[in-house]
Amino acid sequence: MSATTSLIEHWIDGALTSGNSTRRGAVHNPATGRTTAQVCLADQSDVEAAVASARSAFPAWAATSLSARTRVLFAFRELLNSRKHELAEIITREHGKVLSDALAEVSRGQEVVEVACGIPHLLKGAHSSTVSTGIDVHSLRQPVGVVAVISPFNFPAMVPMWFFPIAIAAGNSVVLKPSEKDPSAAVWIAQLWKEAGLPDGVFTVLHGDKVAVDGLLDHPDISAVSFVGSTPIARYVYERAGLTGKRVQALGGAKNHMVVMPDADLDLAADAAVSAGYGSAGERCMAVSVIVAVGDIADDLVARIAKRTATLRIGDGSREPDMGPLVTEQHRDKVASFVANGETAGATVVIDGRTVTPDGDADGYWLGPTLFDNVEPGMDIYTEEIFGPVLSVVRVASYAEALQLVNSNPYGNGTAIFTTDGGTARGFETDVQVGMIGINVPVPVPVAYYSFGGWKDSLFGDSHAHGTDGVQFYTRGKVVTSRWNAPAGGLELSFPSNR
Ligand code: NAD
Repeated sequence: MSATTSLIEHWIDGALTSGNSTRRGAVHNPATGRTTAQVCLADQSDVEAAVASARSAFPAWAATSLSARTRVLFAFRELLNSRKHELAEIITREHGKVLSDALAEVSRGQEVVEVACGIPHLLKGAHSSTVSTGIDVHSLRQPVGVVAVISPFNFPAMVPMWFFPIAIAAGNSVVLKPSEKDPSAAVWIAQLWKEAGLPDGVFTVLHGDKVAVDGLLDHPDISAVSFVGSTPIARYVYERAGLTGKRVQALGGAKNHMVVMPDADLDLAADAAVSAGYGSAGERCMAVSVIVAVGDIADDLVARIAKRTATLRIGDGSREPDMGPLVTEQHRDKVASFVANGETAGATVVIDGRTVTPDGDADGYWLGPTLFDNVEPGMDIYTEEIFGPVLSVVRVASYAEALQLVNSNPYGNGTAIFTTDGGTARGFETDVQVGMIGINVPVPVPVAYYSFGGWKDSLFGDSHAHGTDGVQFYTRGKVVTSRWNAPAGGLELSFPSNR
């Protein structure tokens, strides 16, 4: 199966189609700078066609038995597991990340599919017998209908897989609007669903930009929206979809701090800082962006981080370097401008990523890793989400100062503390205002049976992704009170009380 064609089309009703789309977006290989395809950008009539197909597939899928639905999930899991290299290659070609990293992304997405295979257990309700004489109560959960998933460029497989396996397993149909920067992964996944036996219309891929997103947010037949992207768009999605009463979970941006205590294992901390700061070229919402060095370890820690950073090999992701290019030329230039800005603002440039010799095509979107020391909280490189391979070291005198720094940041996606003191770690886990916390672990992305999500400006809505939150988000609860063989009670106009 080859998903990269010269025209990347929507997937509606179990087939590829351009619909009425006349607008196109260019898709590039970031390692070469070459245009590899054009993607259809939906107009409103394409939105209507996509949602209508999903809407008409919904009742039959919702009524399909749990065992039949689960069989499709298991088949999808087996196909994905045996062919994930194909998907990883597509991701590397359009996103730029290193092939092994792309494969790891698919594997983390697959974990959510595996959790969704257990949907019969996850959907079990409760039953209470004889709550009153001859009266029983039970609860059940039912799918919400058509769910929209709108995803960012940085994880073209894993982020959609945070959502659609559980949504589909729970009996919903899904319209996925992937990033227009790397849209082929979604189409490959759609074709895999069809092979796995999913009925047409239950999984739809609608390509596009703001027109497609707005069309989905306003559509009366969409019941729930799962969005992941930058904070301004997440806030917008949350507010706009809320106007028509939809359920919304909108995951936004991040500025993740890694606190290093004076008692930390500094080699462990330096390895973690480099891996989590520069992995996937820093284009991860759980990337470490700020190192908070506590006490007198800063010189030593910066030296260890710099020594490791200097060894990193930058190049074409298919050649398995340490770090690939950035996703687009515009994004590379934006990140490079942050580096210039940090230097002008007075931060110490320990390693400058603008001078890089990549193992790749000269026209690739290259930027090496940058390490700043003596960063101050007022600087743009500290306040803004850079989303690139730039690490900032902020020096503080005490744990209290470090905690205050993390908690006063508007974002609250991920954070980490490196320490050998259990009491310090426990205090941090209790007091820090962040959704996902690592203790001597730098990228604390929860496993699929827990839920993923940040606090504050990193998530708008009440539900986190996957795990039990995912099951709750894609289902609506009912409670049934029933009487079958109790004696006739006669008239009773007062409010019913239990006997
Ligand atoms: P983005 O906000 O530019 O795009 C995300 C989605 O929104 C895409 O599908 C895009 O087509 C759509 N979109 C873009 N502009 C829009 C507009 N004006 N109106 C309506 N829809 C619009 O984000 P991105 O650059 O693709 O991804 C990077 C961002 O995503 C970073 O901020 C990163 O932190 C965040 N992210 C967050 C998480 C998380 O779990 N919190 C995970 C991954 C990425």
